[in-house]
Amino acid sequence: MRVRCPNCGRLYSSIIPPTCCGESLMIEYDYEEVDVSKWKNRRPGVWRYKELLPDVSTRISLSEGGTPVLRAKLGEELGIKVFIKDETRNPTGSFRDRLATVAVSYGLPHADNGFVVASNGNAAASLAAYAARAGRPAYTVVPKLIEPGKLNQITAFGARLIRYGESVDEGISYAEGLAEGKGLYNITPESNLIGLEGQKTIAFELWEELKPTHVVVPTGSGSNLYSIYKGFAELIAVGALEEMPKLIAVQTEKCSPIASEVLGVEPRAEPTKALGLYVKNPVMKELALEAINESNGTAVLVGEDELDLGQRLLAKEGIFAEYASSVIVPALLKLAEEGYFERDDRVALIVTSSGLKGHYSESREKFSIGGTKLEILKLLSENEMYGYEIWEALEKPLKYQAVYQHLRELESMGLIEESHRKGRRVYYRVTDRGRKFLETLGG
Ligand SMILES: [Zn+2]
Repeated sequence: MRVRCPNCGRLYSSIIPPTCCGESLMIEYDYEEVDVSKWKNRRPGVWRYKELLPDVSTRISLSEGGTPVLRAKLGEELGIKVFIKDETRNPTGSFRDRLATVAVSYGLPHADNGFVVASNGNAAASLAAYAARAGRPAYTVVPKLIEPGKLNQITAFGARLIRYGESVDEGISYAEGLAEGKGLYNITPESNLIGLEGQKTIAFELWEELKPTHVVVPTGSGSNLYSIYKGFAELIAVGALEEMPKLIAVQTEKCSPIASEVLGVEPRAEPTKALGLYVKNPVMKELALEAINESNGTAVLVGEDELDLGQRLLAKEGIFAEYASSVIVPALLKLAEEGYFERDDRVALIVTSSGLKGHYSESREKFSIGGTKLEILKLLSENEMYGYEIWEALEKPLKYQAVYQHLRELESMGLIEESHRKGRRVYYRVTDRGRKFLETLGG
């Protein structure tokens, strides 16, 4: 592995530090030396492609990658050959396990204090599992809007959960601060490209099994799209492939920073039900656009009302996908209708993550609030109060510290906020969200 600054061209022996000239370092290999015929004798999985992966002294693996490619019945109805790359079969149910195995293995010697990631959920669940496997602490910075299954995974694996910001955008610099302050190895793809080396193996597997002409990719941060592009570009560099398949980025109409650029429409950056795609200002936008342009691909926008349809049609194939993955089906239908495909095309749809991760709903958070939190919320809706005052007003056999814990949790849920301080007293008040929350409960 070779590490090069894309700006000044300086070569590094490792990806630590991850940036030079303010840009992410690019990872390269001695492509003339790579013999891809060795791959087929090895067991399936990410590490099968070790010549095009970083050298690591210890592999932290849960047997990720090597996921199936299934022929889609949907294609027969459309008169084209459609295949589904089912990434839900990875250890934690998403393609991010490919990132985690490489980033955690590579970062291990630099992670005595642990790892950190900013993520809208899947990468956090993956890091939680792989750090547990490695016996190191994991800090996960996730936004307020997140599916419950992802939270369950993170806590079940014993990772620290920090809920910060409404979308993942705000969490990226927060995680960078944590990494610096606590001496953690940061595997956030926006801050460190090492994990993309794992993600690019989706391209190697597609090439081995399918040789697709088109790859349809749900796109939030753009890191998956760019990884797949890099994988195919490396297959060309080693002489295994002649032409790059066309890469098709799919976003939702509500959050479209990358697709809008390709389609020449006004971008939007609002919350979408496809939460995995809710990235307002993707750091990797330029790299994602490069992947689309260089591959001669395109982008498609999908409406909120099409997500359920996408999920249902994938279910008919026997696959349960999260909304962020389900966008690929309405995108395929749109392109097919426009006559975008030709008869002999082989179209690969990437199902990035499992529907078992669940849907976010405010009403579910309602049930996750215990009685004491609700009482605190009601007290604060009447008066701004400080901790000791709340403790007294509760009239419960409760430790004083427990009240502080409840306050911190209510704050991280966005239901209360600090209003002001008087000396050492911190006063809290209910937020608009907290008020709405109480209203839905009927007062
Ligand atoms: Zn440089």
